[in-house]
Amino acid sequence: SSFAHFGFDEQLMHQIRKSEYTQPTPIQCQGVPVALSGRDMIGIAKTGSGKTAAFIWPMLIHIMDQKELELGDGPIAVIVCPTRELCQQIHSECKRFGKAYNLRSVAVYGGGSMWEQAKALQEGAEIVVCTPGRLIDHVKKKATNLQRVSYLVFDEADRMFDMGFEYQVRSIASHVRPDRQTLLFSATFRKKIEKLARDILIDPIRVVQ
Ligand code: AMP
Repeated sequence: SSFAHFGFDEQLMHQIRKSEYTQPTPIQCQGVPVALSGRDMIGIAKTGSGKTAAFIWPMLIHIMDQKELELGDGPIAVIVCPTRELCQQIHSECKRFGKAYNLRSVAVYGGGSMWEQAKALQEGAEIVVCTPGRLIDHVKKKATNLQRVSYLVFDEADRMFDMGFEYQVRSIASHVRPDRQTLLFSATFRKKIEKLARDILIDPIRVVQ
């Protein structure tokens, strides 16, 4: 398969070419069309599969479609992941590809400065990449709000459960509008993840790496 099948515009293709990716990975070939269609998705994929770009590219197009809707000033897309390292990694890919449309990303994670992060959130961003507890802290302090969120990604869901974030993950899902698009990524598909998928996704398509 090739990138041409995705129908991306020249601005996004330019950023992809700059990354020197020659062809999409299997999870991208299968996942990108599903995510672009607007359907909820379960992605069973490990780190190294190219899963990050598989949810970032459709996210950018989703944001450009939603941007003109005047629903406030909070983020349009939120990506929730287990660790600071992953947060920074995803944030850096969001910035790289987000350049295509001048979209702004902010990373908020436990261990980082609350004040610095709140300041960045208040300056405004279409994309927030976060660890679960820290996002909730910022929402409680009104540094940001989830009113405008319509693209919600949970990455490495199994690891978030292992780290004890199930309550926070469910809480975030329950605070985002029900007509959102939700994508759930996990390296494994255990009973608890299956149950989460049933609770927070609507008629999802399952894509396996
Ligand atoms: P991920 O599984 O999303 O953590 O990605 C693993 C690594 O593969 C990252 O360093 C990406 O920049 C890289 N990558 C993602 N998509 C592609 C692609 N289509 N071709 C080559 N490398 C890629």
